[in-house]
Amino acid sequence: MARVQLQGVRKVYPDGFVAVHGASFEVADGELLVLVGPSGCGKSTLLRMIAGLESITAGSLRIGERVVNDVAPKDRDIAMVFQSYALYPHMTVAENLAFGLKLRGHDKAAIGERVAEAAKTLELDALLERRPAALSGGQRQRVALGRALVRHPQVFLLDEPLSNLDAKLRMSMRVEIARLHRRLGATMVYVTHDQIEAMTLGQRIVVLDGGEIQQIDTPMALYEKPANLFVATFLGSPAMNVLRGTLVREDGLALALGDGARLPLDGDGVPEAWLGSEVDVGIRPEDLRRDTGAGAAFAPTVEVVEPVGNEVFVNLQQGPFALIARLPPGELPEPGARLPLRAAAGRLHVFDPGSGERLP
Ligand code: ATP
Repeated sequence: MARVQLQGVRKVYPDGFVAVHGASFEVADGELLVLVGPSGCGKSTLLRMIAGLESITAGSLRIGERVVNDVAPKDRDIAMVFQSYALYPHMTVAENLAFGLKLRGHDKAAIGERVAEAAKTLELDALLERRPAALSGGQRQRVALGRALVRHPQVFLLDEPLSNLDAKLRMSMRVEIARLHRRLGATMVYVTHDQIEAMTLGQRIVVLDGGEIQQIDTPMALYEKPANLFVATFLGSPAMNVLRGTLVREDGLALALGDGARLPLDGDGVPEAWLGSEVDVGIRPEDLRRDTGAGAAFAPTVEVVEPVGNEVFVNLQQGPFALIARLPPGELPEPGARLPLRAAAGRLHVFDPGSGERLP
């Protein structure tokens, strides 16, 4: 069993700064769990505590069945992959892969076997005699992964492993890591600030902000039912639109904004309890559509139009609110023109304007 369990794990740095406020979650055996959040949210601190590189101020950490709070990193049966790769420049790829095993006293034959196996898995066979300086960024990253792989650890810990790569390479390495995970069936904890990486790689995602867990769920559940405004606007690209207004039912359902504009809402899906008081309403860019009917009640001003081929992002302004609509390609709206829009009532996300929590 290689599950990882955190119970009330807290980190207070020596200067008194609370980086993690008490995190409780479990990484199931064989699961790829992603920790995601903006810079400074505490995700690296959490990962480093699991690795044993940072002490745990309070709470308990188990790897497998064992509490490892006070176990040295080398005895935790984990392998970590760093953003910086941390390869030894004077060693060949083969030597880099073998180094950790040598330190641990494995015999030569076993080391050779594991290095060959990792090289094959990561397609490094042809590069074994090269030094890191003679490798591309993607190849270096594969060697860094290989160094973790040869260890056959219970748990892989990956700290922003792709952030030094260009966008295209990042995408292909992302697929490679997903494939590797499926093939090994290994438990992995993966840290990133990139929400797209989190959404595409994670079987489940822990969203962090300010050292606190905001929500833990599958990517689609987080997207469909964000627990608060932070999660709602952090995941999704372009980000969710948020409009403060009042949901009303007069000549049909609508969101009434302070400036008198009314966004017409189609269909149903708005509980009575949401009607009549001020709320923050989240609408994903793909949930806004053109209103082709007469008497446009909601027609924000087009500011910037971004055609990306299969769709068009239209940046709009409505009073104090900046909005983005994601529309099918076709006739492009002109900047400066007004674009009538409507939305589906059933696709709204509604939040308490005070606490930012999702309304039930
Ligand atoms: P990034 O994506 O920028 O690496 P992160 O989410 O990984 O951010 P952490 O590195 O975990 O963030 O840091 C969390 C918070 O703890 C930050 O506000 C950081 O300034 C603070 N911090 C980190 N190390 C220390 C330290 N040694 N002493 C005091 N505060 C620290």
